[in-house]
Amino acid sequence: MYDYLIVGAGLYGAVCARELTDAGKKCLVIDKRDHIAGNVYTEKIEKINVHKYGAHIFHTNMANVWNYVNRFATFNRFTNSPVANYHGELYSLPFNMYTFNKMWGVVTPEDAEKKIDEQRREAGITEPKNLEEQAISLVGTDIYEKLIKGYTQKQWGRPCDKLPAFIIKRLPVRFTFDNNYFNALYQGIPIGGYTKMVERMLDGIDVRLGVDFLEHRELAEEAEKVIYTGPIDAYYDYKFGNLEYRSVRFENEVLDIPNFQGNAAVNYTDADTPWTRIIEHKWFEFGRTPEGEEIEKTVISREYSSEWKPGDEPYYPVNDEKNGQLFTQYKELAEGEAEVIFGGRLGEYKYYDMDQVIAAGLEKVKSLI
Ligand code: UDP
Repeated sequence: MYDYLIVGAGLYGAVCARELTDAGKKCLVIDKRDHIAGNVYTEKIEKINVHKYGAHIFHTNMANVWNYVNRFATFNRFTNSPVANYHGELYSLPFNMYTFNKMWGVVTPEDAEKKIDEQRREAGITEPKNLEEQAISLVGTDIYEKLIKGYTQKQWGRPCDKLPAFIIKRLPVRFTFDNNYFNALYQGIPIGGYTKMVERMLDGIDVRLGVDFLEHRELAEEAEKVIYTGPIDAYYDYKFGNLEYRSVRFENEVLDIPNFQGNAAVNYTDADTPWTRIIEHKWFEFGRTPEGEEIEKTVISREYSSEWKPGDEPYYPVNDEKNGQLFTQYKELAEGEAEVIFGGRLGEYKYYDMDQVIAAGLEKVKSLI
């Protein structure tokens, strides 16, 4: 008999399992996949930790979360600075003075601001109501057209004027020469990979892999309470209809060359290239093994975005109005559950970053014990 059955061995599940165990509760963690770590799972290929479900760069402003993850891994000094490729023209990301200089030839922050102001005025936007208007009002029409429009439509499969503004507010806009994609105080990649970090979190805790809770709901009887981190709509057999997600497909390739693109992430921001980005995994760890050995080969992943359909892996919740309303219906049911707690990106249908998931898990456990 367990105190908690935790469904899903991703970050939310692992944090809850660790904290509850340390508080004296007996936990069983199950996952339908044959591995732990959820979508932060990394697998070693040609001495390279490959982010099998997409690039994960840990970044946070929360000191408690940073201290927490550092208990389970040592982080390297990786700083995310993706490059945008628009029909072969390269631009720095996030939007900063390097981007503005390349786009318009402007040299001073003042001239960059003037240029953006001008384009904002021409577009006539005062109160941005959707992603398109938000983007234009932040960086002007040129950058919107070349670096945002095509990428966003590929990633979300929806036109930018049908998407919520908050998605683009994730990206900083800076009038300095700073290519750091994040504004976070702390940033890095766990040396040795995320899988190892989650393995340490789950140290001494019962884990059963390859077990699909939705097909084995009787497992709930083995525990007092359930923490469910899978899709909330699936838990309720899609009774109000299914929530929409974006899914991602990866084409992985091992190349017999040491350097394919010179950067961990290159975003293809035009509408014609079918993939959204290419990740070259070795650069998350500076092209070397933790022992300092240079790696001869390289592994790249082309990332293709698609609409989720049953059987696919859900990645991104589509937080538009329609789905927001549907989620509210599921949430009401969930709140009525005395013995089931819903958490994580899929359980809460929220575009969480890793640090937010960890913070939410820590908070939840605090409220439980
Ligand atoms: N985005 C864009 N161009 C880029 C990178 C991002 O337009 O080159 C937009 C796009 O709408 C995306 C959003 O910014 O959905 C957030 O990007 P982020 O990199 O945070 O997405 P994630 O890494 O979570 O996929």
